[in-house]
Amino acid sequence: MLILVTNDDGVHSPGIQVLAEQLATLGEVVVVAPDRERSAVSHALTLHSPLRADELRPGVFAVDGTPTDCVNLAIHGLLGRKPDLVVSGINRGGNMGDDLTYSGTVAAAMEATLMGVPALAFSLEAERFLAEDFAVAATVAVDLAGRVLATRLPAETFLNINVPGGFPVGMRLTRQGKRRFSDQIEKKSDPRGRHYYWLGAGQVSFENAEGTDFHAVSQGYVSITPLHLDLTNYHSFAELSTWGFPGSDQAARRCS
Ligand code: MN
Repeated sequence: MLILVTNDDGVHSPGIQVLAEQLATLGEVVVVAPDRERSAVSHALTLHSPLRADELRPGVFAVDGTPTDCVNLAIHGLLGRKPDLVVSGINRGGNMGDDLTYSGTVAAAMEATLMGVPALAFSLEAERFLAEDFAVAATVAVDLAGRVLATRLPAETFLNINVPGGFPVGMRLTRQGKRRFSDQIEKKSDPRGRHYYWLGAGQVSFENAEGTDFHAVSQGYVSITPLHLDLTNYHSFAELSTWGFPGSDQAARRCS
């Protein structure tokens, strides 16, 4: 088995190191990850400059690009063959609810899915990011990666997994939750009197609805959300068909 490991926190982050070490119990592991933190770059692809991959030690590559670049470059170049599994993480901080759309960790798994490789994204949701907690999350990763290698995943589906700090009380299948957006931007002045701004200054909170990723993690469970890349809202066709454009019948067929 060949397992590609990547992340968005960078090749030197503690989460990717323990993940790679523990996954080595399942097969050959190659790490191809950004050379620095690239969190919240989502599914960005570098098209207007070249990429370089430095082999830091055997089987560990640092790339001056995004997580999506890393998966692309690994599968089409560095690995020499298609991996059996791509595992992204373990991210420092949860990737739940609407935040998935920003996540480089999740985007790396998306990219693998586009290339027909089974993929898992792992994030640790904790107040402090202790080495012990990353180690526990890595054992969860080995468990789930083993299952995927043994049984595969549903078509066009990848898993977004969030692990709580401490010892999880169990695992739950969940749906993507909803973020409560607080429109907080921090406005400050620099020494020359010019304003500057920090995005994301508000407290992150989620609707505490049962069945969601956030709810499971808040109860101490590992949250496993199956995702796919088709963003079509199939439920909307019935309502939009009143606009009278042809096509909605055929388009909506996938949901049946
Ligand atoms: Mn990150």
